[in-house]
Formats: sequence, C-alpha cells, structure tokens
Amino acid sequence: MATASPRREPADAFDLLVVGGGINGTGIARDAAGRGLSVLLAERDDLAGFTSSSSTKLIHGGLRYLEYYEFRLVREALAERERLLRLAPHVIWPLRFVLPHDKGLRPAWLLRLGLFLYDHLARLRTLPGSESVNLRRAPVGQPLQDRLTKGFVYSDCWVEDSRLVVLNAMDARAHGAEVLTRTGVVSARREGDLWVATLRDERSGAERTVRAKAVVNAAGPWVSKTLGGTLGINSRAAVRLIKGSHIVVRKLFEGDQAYILQQPDKRIVFAIPYERDFTLIGTTDVPYDGEPGPVSISPEETDYLCSCINRSFKTAIGPADVVWTYSGVRPLYDDAAENASAVTRDYVLDVEDAGGRLPVLSVFGGKITTYRKLAEHALEKLAPYFPGLKPAWTGGGILPGGDMKDADFDTFLADLKRRRPFLPDELARRLARAYGTRVDAVLGSATSLADLGEAFDAGLTAAEVDYLRREEWVTRAEDILWRRSKLGLRTSQQGATRLSAYLERRAEAA
Ligand SMILES: Cc1cc2nc3c(=O)[nH]c(=O)nc-3n(C[C@H](O)[C@H](O)[C@H](O)COP(=O)(O)OP(=O)(O)OC[C@H]3O[C@@H](n4cnc5c(N)ncnc54)[C@H](O)[C@@H]3O)c2cc1C
Repeated sequence: MATASPRREPADAFDLLVVGGGINGTGIARDAAGRGLSVLLAERDDLAGFTSSSSTKLIHGGLRYLEYYEFRLVREALAERERLLRLAPHVIWPLRFVLPHDKGLRPAWLLRLGLFLYDHLARLRTLPGSESVNLRRAPVGQPLQDRLTKGFVYSDCWVEDSRLVVLNAMDARAHGAEVLTRTGVVSARREGDLWVATLRDERSGAERTVRAKAVVNAAGPWVSKTLGGTLGINSRAAVRLIKGSHIVVRKLFEGDQAYILQQPDKRIVFAIPYERDFTLIGTTDVPYDGEPGPVSISPEETDYLCSCINRSFKTAIGPADVVWTYSGVRPLYDDAAENASAVTRDYVLDVEDAGGRLPVLSVFGGKITTYRKLAEHALEKLAPYFPGLKPAWTGGGILPGGDMKDADFDTFLADLKRRRPFLPDELARRLARAYGTRVDAVLGSATSLADLGEAFDAGLTAAEVDYLRREEWVTRAEDILWRRSKLGLRTSQQGATRLSAYLERRAEAA
C-alpha cells in the first residue's frame, strides 16, 4: 500500500488524480490536499462548466425527498446547510420559501407534518423554523392567485453554485493541489505500481503524462463513460441521466422570498428572486440518453414551466417573457426507480482496486448541498490506501473570502462601502457577494472607479477581469459572464466581444 507522500515529488507524480472540476471533483481535491496528499485535478472545460453551474442553486434539505423516505439524505443535507452557511457566508445565504396549500393536491396536514419533520431533522438550528401563513393577508401572498388562501413559510439557503466550485478549487490550490482547466484526461491505465494517465490541453492539443497512486472519477454525467472508456474498468454501478431546465423572466414579484409551487403531476417547481431584477423558475425532470455535453431546454419544458407559474401567480407568463434559459444533466445513481423524479438524489461512492492497490473511486449522484460530506466520505474510502492520512478538517474550513467576523455579510458590506466610498452601492454589493474578504485583492489600491481600468458592461472592470484571470482560471468571456458571475444577463453582444478581445490581448501579453 502507498503512503501519503510529501509534496517534493516530481511534478508528474501525484498521490491523487481527480478527473472533473465540478463541485464533487473540486470538493474532493480540496479535502485531500488539506490532508497532506499531493493532488492533480484536471477539468476538460471550465470549472463548473456543466451540471455544477446548472442547478436550482439551493442548499436545502430537500423537503420533497421526505416523500421518498430519504431521511438519511435530508438529515445530512440539513446539517450541511447550517455548516456551509458559516463556511461561505458570501456565496450562501438564507432564503424563506412560501409553500401555498393547493386544494386537491397534498392536504394541509401532510404539508404541516413534512415541515415538522424538516424542522426537527435539522439538529443545528440557526435558521428560523416553519410557520403557517394567511396568504390573503400576508404581503408574500399578494402575487398569488386569490384561490390560494393559506400556506406555510420555511427556511432553506441559496448558493452561487459555480462560485462555490471555484472557491473549492482555490482552496485546493492553497493546500498545494495543481488545478488544470481545459485539460481532459484522455486515458489512464494501471502500469506497475502506479496509474499512468495522459492529459490533453484542449486549447493547444499538447499532451502530458502523469502518474498517480489513486484516481477519483468525479466526471459527473460522464462518470460511466470515464470508468468504462478512459479508465478501462467494468463496473456494475450505473449512472441515470436526468435533464433539468430553468427559465429566467423579468422580476415576477416583490420581496426576498421564494415560492415552492405544487403541481398536479406531484412535482414541485420553484420561483426564486434572481440577480436583483429577475425571477428564476425551475426545474424539470426529463430522462436523457444523449451525449451529456451542452444541453438545452425544449419548447415543451418552457411551456411546462410557464404553466406551473400560471397556475399560481396572478401575473401570467409565456415563452416570449423568457430572457434566459439553462439546462443541466443530473448524474444520478441508477436505483431502477420508474419515475425520473423518484430516482434517489443520494450519492454512491464506488471503489474498485487491483489487489488492494491503485484504487479508482467513482462518484455517482449527489447534491451541491452535500458535496463537502461526500468529499469526507470519499477520503474515508481512500484512507486505507494512504496510511497516515490526516483526519477530516473541512467541517471548520472556511472557504476563500468567507472569513467575515461572525459570518455577518451585512456588516462586512457596510465596512466595504465605508472603506471604498467610490463604489456605487450595487457594485459594492456584487463584489462583496462574489469575493467576500478577497475583494481587496480585486480592487487593489484603487481610490476611484477610474483606477479600476477599462470598463466593460454592467460594472465589470479590467481590475476584476485581471483578478479572475490570475486567481480563478478564467480564459474565456463566457467563464466570466455565465460562471464567475451572471453578468451575461446584462451584457450586450458588443460588450461580450470587447471582453473576449481584452482576454485575448492579456493572454498574448502573458
Ligand atoms: C437541474 C438541476 C437542478 C439541481 N438543483 C440542485 C439544487 O438546487 N441543490 C443541490 O444541492 N443540487 C442540485 N442539483 C444537483 C447538483 O447540481 C449536482 O449533483 C452536482 O452539480 C454534480 O456535480 P459533479 O461535480 O458530480 O458533476 P459536474 O458539475 O458535471 O462536473 C463534472 C466535470 O467533469 C468534467 N469531465 C468529464 N470527463 C472528463 C475528463 N475525461 N477529463 C477531465 N474532465 C472531465 C466535465 O467537464 C465536468 O465539468 C441540481 C442538478 C440539476 C441538473
């Protein structure tokens, strides 16, 4: 068996090769690097390029999973909700959800029972519990149709999903991991006492050979293809691909609350305040058997999501109101459930080795919410192959930019505005949310907006772009516009082209 090795090894030999830079790959790489392993993570596209930037962006226990008796998952997710809120208060924040009672659908006593369980499965309780609400009297009921008279309000959290991925990658790097983006793992085979893998730079086509004692297959929707194809291993565990889509429309309602709407097909659909001026609506569950690369919403899914809103809100919407859509593929563990909504959202970690050596650990399923715990479990499974591995540490490991006094975002923001009075309110808020206490590394010594350099659309400046290139693996305009931020919603085609040209100039100069 191999032992955890010091980081003085040659740069092409690692303890762990992680395939995939979504939330699970970056979470495992971070945990492993912090425990003393030398780690290489390779992501073929951009960090969070696929499923991990296409979620509903909730850190939640998953109220609806109670109907499928997923108590283990809900308990773990609720505990993680409270923990992650403390570890990354800039990119994760509490959200109140309004759940209208809809006559003819689930009875009120069942909703009350579910929320009672939900409140009590959460052992740490910093978020307010659930309560009933008269929708005809309370302001949160005003956007809803008059037939909806009563409901409930409960707590969960919002997460900037793709930023959480990047923060994990940054922390992995801070603990010594090498993180490569736009670098695919083309093949890997056991040779002698090591895995030997070929990586390809997707931009230049250049190949590099690396060695590792263990491989983590966190390829998301490609997990089975990676196992069978890239790694050449037969496994019984299989992935079930379920596409989910969202639509974004102009703000449908006032207030910070979100809505969770029951549907006659027994599904639920969320309507969530989004990027200040918009409402995010999703999601769908569509079985998928195509190539899991970029996927897009179908006209039927758009119609379905509009009709879900039109059943409950006073303001009706149609496809013409949609300003943006995104879709992703859930890489769920195939538990042979008949219905796509019923497939388990829990995760399975499958380990295969060769006579007690050279393991490959594959990740099936999971939620953004449980990624940290999933990573801990992955390291528990890898521990026998690395005697002397350091103990779990991420439960108290604050993510980059999250070290705010008392995890208090509002006080942090007020302080930023006092220190940098030249920042317009909205820009100060956006930068504080995105970078937390790292914001000063973005702003440098600037004392005026002009000091931040060339201005792109929607408050983006050269200083921020340069920081993102330097610290957050940004190479293309879309990395910034749709993953490090959602400024794509406010950027013109011309603005995007100018940003691309700037990035090219910077890359040439480097
Ligand atoms: C519609 C939808 C809504 C969701 N909502 C929520 C929610 O609200 N809350 C929640 O907690 N969870 C939610 N989820 C679940 C969550 O998004 C996923 O479980 C999670 O993002 C999966 O992350 P991953 O790292 O396993 O996969 P991915 O994010 O897909 O990452 C896998 C990465 O591997 C890379 N890769 C593949 N093959 C190779 C290779 N050979 N070499 C290098 N790189 C490779 C890919 O490019 C990809 O970036 C939702 C999912 C969907 C689809």
